[in-house]
Amino acid sequence: MNETVFPKDASVVVIGGGILGCSTLYHLAQSGIRDAILLERSQLTSGTTWHSAAQVRALRSSKNLTELIRYSFSFFDELEKETGQATGWMQTGSLSIATNQERWTHILRQQSLAKLFGVRAQSISVEEARERWPLMNEKDVIGAVWSPDDGRVSPSDLCAALVKGAKSRGARIFEETPVTGILTENQKIRGVITEKGEIRCDAVALCSGLWSRELASKAGVQIPVWPCEHFYLLTGEVEGIKGHIPTLSDHDSHLYLRDESGGLLVGCFEPMGKSIDPAKLGKDFAFQLLQEDWEHFEPMMLNAIHRVPALEHAEVKKLLNGPESFTVDGSFLLGESAETKGFFLGCGMNSVGVATGSGAGMALAHCIIHGRTPMDLPEADPKRFPDEMCSIQVLSERVPEVLGKHYEITFPGRQWKTSRGLRQSPLASLWKQHHAHFGQFYGWERPLYFGAHGEPELTFNRPEWFEAVGKEVLQAHNQAALFDQSTLGKIRVEGRDCESFLQRVCTNRMNRSPGTRGSCFPWSRLFSAM
Ligand SMILES: Cc1cc2nc3c(=O)[nH]c(=O)nc-3n(C[C@H](O)[C@H](O)[C@H](O)COP(=O)(O)OP(=O)(O)OC[C@H]3O[C@@H](n4cnc5c(N)ncnc54)[C@H](O)[C@@H]3O)c2cc1C
Repeated sequence: MNETVFPKDASVVVIGGGILGCSTLYHLAQSGIRDAILLERSQLTSGTTWHSAAQVRALRSSKNLTELIRYSFSFFDELEKETGQATGWMQTGSLSIATNQERWTHILRQQSLAKLFGVRAQSISVEEARERWPLMNEKDVIGAVWSPDDGRVSPSDLCAALVKGAKSRGARIFEETPVTGILTENQKIRGVITEKGEIRCDAVALCSGLWSRELASKAGVQIPVWPCEHFYLLTGEVEGIKGHIPTLSDHDSHLYLRDESGGLLVGCFEPMGKSIDPAKLGKDFAFQLLQEDWEHFEPMMLNAIHRVPALEHAEVKKLLNGPESFTVDGSFLLGESAETKGFFLGCGMNSVGVATGSGAGMALAHCIIHGRTPMDLPEADPKRFPDEMCSIQVLSERVPEVLGKHYEITFPGRQWKTSRGLRQSPLASLWKQHHAHFGQFYGWERPLYFGAHGEPELTFNRPEWFEAVGKEVLQAHNQAALFDQSTLGKIRVEGRDCESFLQRVCTNRMNRSPGTRGSCFPWSRLFSAM
């Protein structure tokens, strides 16, 4: 795939030849940017993509993140037809099980969300779940949801098809070409520096996986992307595995399981991950793995044997440990950086890079060409982090928790435990005296309610802070309240038409003199009715 003449100019340079880089290049070329170039430090897919378990689960936490994955479903077939290169897409479906009441509520809520987002999901009886997954020990299972749309893909084949489609439209790829510097002028992208020479360009798409934080800093951009070790076990043949079976998601046990070459692939998101410093991986880290860590994996192994007793005597082929990048809030980065114009980010994939890659590459290419993503994607906007969240100390403490929360029940009011107290209001000590329970927003600690005694118990039912919040609302409505807004962002509006502008965008009447009592929603009636 190496080209002979090294270019001096391009409209867009994509850095990194994993799933994100390949998909972005393909979609740029497909949209008419035919001189786009992809630069890869080593060989295509050699970072994280080659060893991905490559599960594609349709449902994500928001409609538009789900849309990015749903885009893949039709795209896989179209890409295969167009290029003649198979992507390995297999729609096997997936089965989520619950072993306690709260998980059951959680997966039923996900089932409702799926319906809202247009994804098929259906609760089924435990007996039917067992029929779909005969090797499963179902004794402690209380409920199951069947999601027929889910499946898996072959990451290397998918990248090969993307590259073929991109090249057929004029895009070029240079392997063994590490980017060593980024050229900027007046906070705008001017080009990239490589060992083979400089390339002048208008835009850079940074898709360099776990190496992205260091490269972004060369463009004056801080990003909170840091890797964790990530594990799955591969077994030899297991009796009873014939052909392809659905993925079994047993999140109470931190596990997902599926067939692989007649045996099983047992993957996990353990309660607390292990972060790893990218600098320790070495310059030549390509198509490589990290050390097996059986002590770390043992609790998940025991859970897996409980769920699938046939595993007890299965031959272990490999405990695969590969690095994957995570961000501080569990969602990836997609869009232009705040600091440098023309510097676009497509990284920090939080273990959904293969599932999301086709749609994310489409959205990133659209953003580069049109200056905005094709749909609202605030949960992936790179501008959502303050610099304080991008330090190595914060990242190496937080990302193991992010990996651990991947399979946790998403109770309302859930907060991060690590890397707290980074930015505090001047009134923080006063709030603490009043037993504030804090939440973290853009690095700031903001009181969520007062009168807390320890960590609140998380629940889908009426939370213990319900009365405390009700009291505050009534107090603010009926008497007086002082709001500490020092942790909130502020927008200054000034000039000739500022009043009419505010009248238009705000929900309340803004043309009033200071001290005038506003009209609000009748909260007191709502609370007294409860
Ligand atoms: C064990 C494991 C299981 C997983 N299972 C799943 C799953 O089931 N489903 C799923 O969706 N995801 C899964 N993932 C995650 C998924 O594999 C990743 O999110 C995805 O591969 C990341 O792709 P990427 O393109 O962002 O990064 P990468 O694949 O790492 O690509 C980045 C590329 O950038 C190149 N690069 C770095 N620096 C430079 C430079 N200076 N110049 C030029 N090139 C550079 C690298 O060499 C690399 O090829 C799993 C990951 C692991 C580790």
